[in-house]
Amino acid sequence: MTSALQKNRPGAAFPFDNSYVGLPPHFFAAQVPTPVTEPWLIKLNEPLAAELGLDVEALRRDGAAIFSGNLVPEGAEPLAMAYAGHQFGGFSPQLGDGRAILLGEVVDRSGKRYDIQLKGAGPTPFSRRGDGRAAIGPVLREYIISEAMFALGIPATRALAAVTTGEPVYREEVLPGAVFTRVAASHVRVGTFQYFAARGDTDGVRALADYVIDRHYPTLKEAENPYLSLFEAVSERQAALIARWLHVGFIHGVMNTDNMTVSGETIDFGPCAFMDTYDPATVFSSIDQHGRYAYANQPGIGQWNLARLGETLLPLIDAEPDSAVDKANVVIKRYGERFQAHWLAGMREKIGLAGEEDGDLELVQALLSLMQAQGADFTLAFRRLSDLAGDDVAAPAFAASFREADACGPWLTQWRERLSRDPQTATERAIAMRSVNPAFIPRNHRVEQAIKAAVEDGDFSLFEALLSVLSKPYEDQPGFAAYREPPKPDERVLATFCGT
Ligand code: AMP
Ligand code: MG
Repeated sequence: MTSALQKNRPGAAFPFDNSYVGLPPHFFAAQVPTPVTEPWLIKLNEPLAAELGLDVEALRRDGAAIFSGNLVPEGAEPLAMAYAGHQFGGFSPQLGDGRAILLGEVVDRSGKRYDIQLKGAGPTPFSRRGDGRAAIGPVLREYIISEAMFALGIPATRALAAVTTGEPVYREEVLPGAVFTRVAASHVRVGTFQYFAARGDTDGVRALADYVIDRHYPTLKEAENPYLSLFEAVSERQAALIARWLHVGFIHGVMNTDNMTVSGETIDFGPCAFMDTYDPATVFSSIDQHGRYAYANQPGIGQWNLARLGETLLPLIDAEPDSAVDKANVVIKRYGERFQAHWLAGMREKIGLAGEEDGDLELVQALLSLMQAQGADFTLAFRRLSDLAGDDVAAPAFAASFREADACGPWLTQWRERLSRDPQTATERAIAMRSVNPAFIPRNHRVEQAIKAAVEDGDFSLFEALLSVLSKPYEDQPGFAAYREPPKPDERVLATFCGT
C-alpha cells in the first residue's frame, strides 16, 4: 500500500513494475538521464496518463522535471537497450539506445504492460558520436503522428509528454532541445534479436524470445514449436500493420530492422509522412535516396526484415539447420499471402464492399490506377467516395478529385454495378466507409507549419489545434474543413528529415 506521504513525494507518479532489467546484464546498460538546465512542459497526454494508472496530478506538478530526466521518478530503473540492425540494407552489429532511456514499465488497468521511455535524455554507452539529444521539431512530429496513428486505429507507440530542455542542439542548424516521452508495448525490435545472433549468442536469442513470448504472445508457450510460432505471430502482426499503413497513405520512411517492433506497433516516427497525391513511388525521407522505403515498397521490405528475424531464430526453430530453414521459409512465404489478404480486406472496406467477389481486386486496382493517372489526393478521394456512397449529391465533389472531372465515370458505373450485389443499404455503407476512410490525416504541410510556429515563435497553438483535429479523424468536424485540404503548390513539403 502506498501511504499518502509517499504519494505526495515528488516523482512517485508511476507504479513501476520493471521486467526488462531482469534480463541478463549484457541486454542493456544502466544509464540515468543527463539533467538539463531549464525544462519546460510543452504537453502532457493526460488521458493516456490516466489510462496507464499514473498519478496525473503529480505529473502536472512535476512533469517538466520528470519528462526532461531531471527527476528520476521513484521505482524507475533507467537503462539503455542494446540492439543491432540493418540500416538501408547494411548491417550494423551495434546500435542500441543512443538517445533513448527506458525509465521502466507500468501495467495498465487492463493488465497490459508498457514501456515508458525518454527520447533525447542524454548520452548512453550506445551513443557512438551522437549527443544523445533531440531537437524540438522531430519531437513534435513524433507526438503528432504517433497520436494520429492511434486515433486512426493503427497500432503505434504513444506520446505521453514533450518538454523543451532550455538547451540548444546542434544539427545542420542550432535548434531548441526537447525530450519526448514514448509509451510502447515494448521496445524489442527485430534488431534486438540480431544483436545476439550476430554475436553467436544463441542463449541470448533464446532468453529474448522467451521474454517476448511471455510479454506479447503468452499463448504460444503451449505451442508445439514456440519459436516458430513466435516467428509466425510477428509476421502476422507486421502483415496486418503494414496493410493498415497502406490503407491510410502512411510512409514510415526508415524501415530499418531496428525500427521494426516484434509487438506489431509502428515505431520511430523519424522522416515518416502521409501521402497527399496518390503515387505508389512516393518517398519523403531525405536520406532515402533510392526509394528503398517508398510507399509501395513497404510490404516487401516488411518481408525482408522478417527474413532477418527468421535467421536469428533458426537455431531455436530446429536443431537440424536445413529443416529450420525450410520451416522459416514457409512462414516468410506465408507473410506475402497474409499481407495480401489484409490489404485486400481493408481496400474492400474502403470502397464499401461488405461481401467478397472474385473481381474485387481488379475493381480496387482500377480505382488506384485512375487516382494515380489523374493526380487524385488519396485521402480526399476515398472520403468523398464515402460521401457519394450515401448520397449522389456528393458525386461532383468525388469527380473533382480527378484532374479530368469525367475521368471517374466508367469506374463509378462498375462500382455501382458491384454494389448492387452487396447486402448493405446506402446509409449503412456510407457509415461503414466513413469509419475507415479518414477525413483528417496529419498532412505534412500542417505538421511543418505547427513545428515552424513552435520553433520560431514559441507558439504551440497550431500544434494543439492539429492534435485536437487529428484525435477524431473519422468525424467531419466542419469547423476544421481547411485541415482536410491537401497543400497548395507553394505549401507542399517534399522532404522530411530524421534526427529526433
Ligand atoms: P534511428 O535513425 O532513430 O532509428 O536511430 C538509429 C541509431 O542511431 C540508434 O542507435 C540511435 O540511438 C542512434 N542515434 C540517433 N540519433 C542520435 C543522437 N542524437 N545521439 C546518439 N545516438 C543517436
Ligand atoms: Mg530507431
